[in-house]
Amino acid sequence: MADEITDVVGEWVAFLSRYCKREVAEVEREFPFKRSLYIDYQTLQASGASGLRLADEVIEKPGKAIGDIRDALRQMTVIDEEKIRKVNIRFHHIERVTGIRDIRAYHIARFVSVQGIIRKTTDVRPRIIEAFFQCPGCGTETRIRQGLGQFEEPDECSNPECKRKKLKLVPTRSRFVDSQKVRVQESPEGLRGGERPQTLDVEVADDLTGSVAPGDRVVFNGILRSKQRVNYGTKSTLFDLYLECSSVEAPEKEFEEVNISEEDEAEIRSLSEDPELYRKITASIAPSIYGNTEVKEAIALQLFGGVAKDLPDGSRLRGDIHMLLVGDPGIAKSQMLRYVVKLSPRGIYTSGKSSTSAGLTATAVKDDFGDGSWTLEAGALVLADMGVAAVDEMDKMAKEDRSALHEAMEQQTISVAKAGITATLRSRCALLGAANPKLGRFDAYAPIAEQINMPPSLLSRFDLIFILTDKPDEKRDSAIANHIVSAHRVGELIMQQQTGPVSPDHADLLAAESVTVDPPIPPEVLRKYVAYSKRHITPLITDEAKEILIAYYLKLRHLADENKPVPVTARQLEALVRLGEASARIRLSRTVEPADAERVVKIVDLCLRQVAYD
Ligand code: ADP
Ligand code: MG
Repeated sequence: MADEITDVVGEWVAFLSRYCKREVAEVEREFPFKRSLYIDYQTLQASGASGLRLADEVIEKPGKAIGDIRDALRQMTVIDEEKIRKVNIRFHHIERVTGIRDIRAYHIARFVSVQGIIRKTTDVRPRIIEAFFQCPGCGTETRIRQGLGQFEEPDECSNPECKRKKLKLVPTRSRFVDSQKVRVQESPEGLRGGERPQTLDVEVADDLTGSVAPGDRVVFNGILRSKQRVNYGTKSTLFDLYLECSSVEAPEKEFEEVNISEEDEAEIRSLSEDPELYRKITASIAPSIYGNTEVKEAIALQLFGGVAKDLPDGSRLRGDIHMLLVGDPGIAKSQMLRYVVKLSPRGIYTSGKSSTSAGLTATAVKDDFGDGSWTLEAGALVLADMGVAAVDEMDKMAKEDRSALHEAMEQQTISVAKAGITATLRSRCALLGAANPKLGRFDAYAPIAEQINMPPSLLSRFDLIFILTDKPDEKRDSAIANHIVSAHRVGELIMQQQTGPVSPDHADLLAAESVTVDPPIPPEVLRKYVAYSKRHITPLITDEAKEILIAYYLKLRHLADENKPVPVTARQLEALVRLGEASARIRLSRTVEPADAERVVKIVDLCLRQVAYD
């Protein structure tokens, strides 16, 4: 046994002197500025049979591995004992990621990597790791190492002659480390339809504190720990899990985005050449909803989005297309919003009434999570960074959200400055909003700003605003009615199929009815298509397309009336450009052609006709 232990330490010595010599020397030279020694897990794993064994040990007994590495450093005698005791031993580049929802008791005390999006962070606070006590009677000193969780105090003075009960903590001679608590949530793209995302709390310490913000997508590597629950002062048999963070990394592209295989790519490429492409994509958005073709076409453009540009002067132009559906209740606004989340690689659906305390943007609160210190929590627009945030019932959102939304929509950042916390979070998402008019029905003669409780300054940040009314119209009503009943019938037929024997003409009936509600492109394929296009296609506007857009914009300016609720400003021109780029992206085209320009002029004109001039 003793042999084996020295052996492992010897193996670590061999590994460290071969692969980490520079890092170790840096720690010696630059401590305390460099106070973490990073061990590349993949290098370790690839360093022969002993490396493979050590790598397994890092996963299975990380606590022991860290102790062994400190012993190995002692044997190498290149670093002082003091530094060896204080240096953080960290592991990174672990290739196996465990899903947050797959974490079980089995993982306790093991090394795990989880990937997700940061939901909230506390501010950085000092945490005591070595408490220094002094006996007020005899002066005897006692040091106690502190773990995470409860503070440990000596029962009595260690001097057998004294044995005094109450010892005094001396903060100036104790050791503290910066500490921060973070809550990470599974990424929305990994969730299958409507599952509730699960979270894991992470304790971050020392030089890693302050390195992440809500909304960041990260991989946390660390040791899974458990903490006993306490209910009203009595200890429970249940334990809570948290991760003691070893290192933080940006996720690999493959984890981050939708996975696209070579076959997928071939399918996407061939689909992009389909002459019916635009019609098919439009028809694949919320197929159970009848009509609303223009809205669906606009949603298609929104999914693909324009190109975000960083200009040489440091400013940034957003590429995301914001869009608002205003209208009478019961016309499927909510249904369409919910469907979009299925198609957007990073979609989030939320209601303006707010399901979480963080609301739409972000909040800083003093709560239990931070044990009474400040916590910064990301709202929907931060969590939907790089995707579509579908926000229903925007007319009912909180006042603070409404004002924060101005910055969130245009600069695509959210600034929080409250008490101890100042932060700027990113919200590079496309907003798809829906709002019901205050009085139940839309009044064509009253300004929309008043009817949906949104100032014109906010309305002008939407690239497209659709006003949907529900006027009785016999032909349309009967078409919708047929469509709705067909959708229900398809559902019924599928249920029957699953629950018992079916009649001979069942399949024919199902096929006939499905035609109306089946998307020509299945949602999984469209999602990949969108992700692929956003990743690879950055179109450029051709001169001909540019002329069409500018001519239309000038015409608008000429017609515009300053008293209209949504004034025509340079924002509309930017909207036209973004929409044009999105239209080209749908075809996977690297140029915005006149046909794209005409398509978007038609849509913008339809929207403006309802709100700005008519
Ligand atoms: P809103 O959010 O606009 O108040 P909902 O999305 O809740 O409306 O829709 C109400 C119901 O009416 C939904 O079940 C929806 O499927 C149905 N519905 C409304 N309009 C249509 C339509 N054009 N085609 C199919 N179903 C519709
Ligand atoms: Mg609704």
